[in-house]
Amino acid sequence: AAQEGFEADEIESELAAAGHGPLPVLAVVGRPNVGKSTLVNRIIGRREAVVEDRPGVTRDRVTYEAEWAGRRFKVVDTGGWEQDVLGIDASVAAQAEFAIEAADAVVFVVDSSVGATDTDEAVVKLLRRAGKPVVLCANKVDGPSGEADATALWSLGLGEPHPVSALHGRGTGDMLDAVLEALPEAPAQTFGTAVGGPRRIALVGRPNVGKSSLLNRVAGEERVVVNELAGTTRDPVDELVELGGKTWKFVDTAGIRRRVHLQEGADYYASLRTAAAVEKAELAVVLIDASESISVQDQRIVTMAVEAGRALVLAINKWDTLDEERRFYLEREIETELGQIGWAPRVNVSAKTGRHMEKLVPAMETALAGWETRVPTGRLNAFLGELVAAHPHPIRGGKQPRILFGTQAGTRPPRFVLFASGFLEAGYRRFVERRLREEFGFEGTPIHISVRVRE
Ligand code: GDP
Ligand code: GDP
Repeated sequence: AAQEGFEADEIESELAAAGHGPLPVLAVVGRPNVGKSTLVNRIIGRREAVVEDRPGVTRDRVTYEAEWAGRRFKVVDTGGWEQDVLGIDASVAAQAEFAIEAADAVVFVVDSSVGATDTDEAVVKLLRRAGKPVVLCANKVDGPSGEADATALWSLGLGEPHPVSALHGRGTGDMLDAVLEALPEAPAQTFGTAVGGPRRIALVGRPNVGKSSLLNRVAGEERVVVNELAGTTRDPVDELVELGGKTWKFVDTAGIRRRVHLQEGADYYASLRTAAAVEKAELAVVLIDASESISVQDQRIVTMAVEAGRALVLAINKWDTLDEERRFYLEREIETELGQIGWAPRVNVSAKTGRHMEKLVPAMETALAGWETRVPTGRLNAFLGELVAAHPHPIRGGKQPRILFGTQAGTRPPRFVLFASGFLEAGYRRFVERRLREEFGFEGTPIHISVRVRE
């Protein structure tokens, strides 16, 4: 039924949008300068993924949300990454590897004015082996005269080349239609299908925080490389670990075990790995090195996990290295630099000595419970009614915006939709989130709140 000026179908579509599950992931791969970033900009309809001129710059963001023909998905931009530090082939191979591990479908971009190169052929091999759906984008077809060049790319054996000008937008609509056909409705690793199966955990953190040490410590000799079990999965990188009487799946551990020797490319690999692992996981255990200052890279990793909507546990590792003074400063750093995830359970551990390892599992269970919490609509509205009465929104321009009612549209992570009589200021929204957390817990999970304003 319509409530206080909102139409029923309006409410329904709002709830559907807010309650969506995990989105399928599209990766855009190809050699440097074929136009990947330009294409990603086209797809997301923003200028956000600005084409970087500086080589070697690791972007903060890798994943963007996009929508085409009413369907939403994630786009992973691998363009503009430091081919200079890694070498072109290594860089392109890493992208393909990423696509293989994390994406549900791939757009493979080729510069049709150049034609297929050896590097392109090598990527085709990797993509074929992966068996993910591939849409071939013949880019830089700026006009009809370029169509023949596009046709020549049938030779790659990836099916129909879609002639596109990422720069001018020509042909991108048709290509996106093909992308939608290739993309599954929901990601391959949907949460729904995993019910009852082992929880998927991503162990993330910048190089040298102690990920492999921690994995070895918790897993001991017991761990099973999933790939070695016949017919379990084609993904060679997940490990099953027995902890606290339960089986957990640590995803994407190949990047942890296989140490990257290329010192210069380490950040690049770390970012790709983090994004891939977080996409696949339900919960991210973010490791921080207690012996060093909290860095921008640490924050970036935290942000990736939060933006992906995963449950989160903060593990402060190398606790054995702390003296009184460092411990004092560390606490202050955590407060100021990681204040945005004050809701995450925290464990102070040492992978080296084994300190507090037994606290890891309870923290993970707490975070997953928060992530799956559902507040019944009746209880939520009783709470909102009291909150609005006790703490009304400040009056703005003679009007007082009011929350009329709300509902939890989804879990994993919890998503709320509030229907309001006017625009709610950011400060008030934060206040509502804080009070929701005080009232209902949500420990270890980001929560999404969207506000629908009656016009
Ligand atoms: P990336 O390295 O694959 O991400 O490539 P970029 O998106 O940075 O593009 C490399 C260069 O190709 C830039 O100068 C773009 O402006 C140009 N470019 C990208 N798409 C097109 C296109 O469709 N037509 C033409 N003529 N140039 C393009
Ligand atoms: P990764 O790159 O995140 O996998 O980190 P590693 O597990 O390879 O650890 C990097 C370095 O930190 C190694 O020299 C480890 O021995 C050391 N290390 C890991 N955990 C601890 C710890 O809890 N305490 C101390 N003192 N050193 C540690």
